[in-house]
Amino acid sequence: MPELQQALKDLRRGGARVALVPTMGALHEGHMELVRAARRHAEKVAVYIFVNPMQFAPHEDLARYPRPFAEDVRRLEAEGVDLLYAPAAEAVYPPGFATVVSVKGVSEGMEGAFRPHFFDGVATVLAKMFIRMMPEVAVFGEKDYQQLAVVRRMAADLDLPVEIVGVPTRREEGGTAMSSRNAYLTEQERRLAPRLYHVLCETAEALRRGGDVAATLSGARERLIAEGFAKVDYLELRDAASLEPLAAPDREGRLLVAVWLGTTRLIDNIPLPLSSAD
Ligand code: AMP
Repeated sequence: MPELQQALKDLRRGGARVALVPTMGALHEGHMELVRAARRHAEKVAVYIFVNPMQFAPHEDLARYPRPFAEDVRRLEAEGVDLLYAPAAEAVYPPGFATVVSVKGVSEGMEGAFRPHFFDGVATVLAKMFIRMMPEVAVFGEKDYQQLAVVRRMAADLDLPVEIVGVPTRREEGGTAMSSRNAYLTEQERRLAPRLYHVLCETAEALRRGGDVAATLSGARERLIAEGFAKVDYLELRDAASLEPLAAPDREGRLLVAVWLGTTRLIDNIPLPLSSAD
């Protein structure tokens, strides 16, 4: 901690502002987009890598989550990142740690329903990291759209002096959203994965053409299973800002999905803008 505080003090010399990019490592081009956005918002860019145990349930993939640390460091150096913070779990959660930051409302449903511990873990670690690092700006991916909404809510509710910036999802050539967890996919699953984005796009198109929301979403869920996805946790149309369920695409919307491909859980989302309802 004293080391971190000294490094941040050095970084801020001359009045430089700091943009923070929180990550769990296993960095890919999606993370690099966040780093580039951070660079546009502040003079100095800090990244943290922390596979946060508090946001994993006991049956989830904490132990096998990819941790190619040396490669991550190389990527960040190549991108000219000014500070990397990669604390050990005990340095974040020392014995006796007992505080939970819990955001209600936007955290309910979707990821909050299927991973009940998840947003408490995310909000708690981010609150801690914001206090430790005091960034002027923090950058998050729209890939985790509900998470972005939770972070915005928490920052506003707790009067945190940090600007939250969202960055569009970076995709593979076939359309699959880049994700550290894509490393779990077999060759065959990798070939199937782009179907998720295609079905999302086709569903958005059907809704734009005036399709009934409930029937269109239920048809799309069936399509996903027929395409070979093992399970659909949810596929929902929500208000893009409040994340309230939308019964009709009469406001800026967002289609959000979570599916299982074999033993890997994938999430994705796309905008359903009001303007293209023609
Ligand atoms: P993670 O390391 O998976 O916790 O992600 C760290 C940050 O990177 C989060 O703000 C994610 O939303 C963001 N992120 C992950 N994948 C992508 C992507 N494909 N495009 C843009 N941002 C992403």
